[in-house]
Amino acid sequence: MNTTEKTDLLSLLPSELEELMISMDEPKYRATQIFPAMHKGISPFDLTNIGKSTKQKLDERAFFFLPTVKRKLISAIDGTIKYLFTLHDGNCVESVVMKYKHGNTICISSQVGCRMGCAFCASTIGGKIRDLSPSEMLGQIIAAELDSGEKISNVVMMGIGEPLDNYANVIKFLKLVGHEKGINIGYRHISLSTCGLVNRIDDLAKESFPITLSISLHASDDETRSAIMPVNKKWNIESLLTACRNYYKATGRRISFEYTLISGKNDAPEAAARLASLLNSSLRPKNESESFPIHVNLIPVNPVTETGFSASDKAAVDKFAAILEKRGIRATVRRRLGADINASCGQLRRAEENIQ
Ligand code: SAH
Repeated sequence: MNTTEKTDLLSLLPSELEELMISMDEPKYRATQIFPAMHKGISPFDLTNIGKSTKQKLDERAFFFLPTVKRKLISAIDGTIKYLFTLHDGNCVESVVMKYKHGNTICISSQVGCRMGCAFCASTIGGKIRDLSPSEMLGQIIAAELDSGEKISNVVMMGIGEPLDNYANVIKFLKLVGHEKGINIGYRHISLSTCGLVNRIDDLAKESFPITLSISLHASDDETRSAIMPVNKKWNIESLLTACRNYYKATGRRISFEYTLISGKNDAPEAAARLASLLNSSLRPKNESESFPIHVNLIPVNPVTETGFSASDKAAVDKFAAILEKRGIRATVRRRLGADINASCGQLRRAEENIQ
């Protein structure tokens, strides 16, 4: 699809659609016809209440595109659905729909590839190809709802890419996804995972989106973290935790920490004790009355062929969790959904690229 120079309709807010209509000598109420329809997955070019000449004018100026399903894997264990979507330029991204008692959650991608270079992660192996537009992030939700017939009520930005490395488009996506005339998913039902771009966490704290932040920490000392997460060389653990505290103070939203357990790298009992002291001393200083709710998600690393890392065994994971709990830090071992379909993001796209 040739989209150069054309306006991406699904990336527009109602006010921007109105401006486009006015610039086309069309009544601005067309925006109120088009915006809600697009968010249900209906192309403006298929709307019956819009005439042919309007559609022709619109076609000269703008396009509407939803990601198409290239591959779909359904877990026989828990019904988790993994999609490989094709974008308008042929690039692919992954999304995962997980079914929980409290509703369906989608994990979406924010970039094609990633440039953060985390040593254990499949998404970063080929580097970053490009950022996703707001409509491509929204489009994953709409396309998954259409294909699965399931209503999606929660969004986690934990797929391929570093969302805060695509900041402006992510902010626009958040405005679109939470818009009352669109799919309207509340900010409390959205969480964003970051490897720790401190300047952007500070920026996000100033925006009015009470989303949940999830921090990929994965180590309790700078030496270990820098060795597996290059971003730590720019923003170390101390600066990251300071940004977390400020985010919590500004938004009142809890922050969760992701800790991927890699056998022999970061899973020793001493690492757990150091993590507990670090989080308690940086986030819950004694002279402050507020009590920062700390939650650590422990995830045995998903082996990726190229990385050579292996997961900690159950005894090491349980011990790590027990040490955190004993020191007042809630720790859960992440239930692996879709274990039979390689549901962690990045691996399906790579497998597909290697085939081509
Ligand atoms: N860039 C963002 C979001 C994408 S990664 C971030 O870093 O948070 C989503 C989560 O999966 C992160 O916590 C990431 O560290 C983790 N992850 C990546 N590869 C993994 C693997 N092989 N096993 C377990 N977790 C992994």
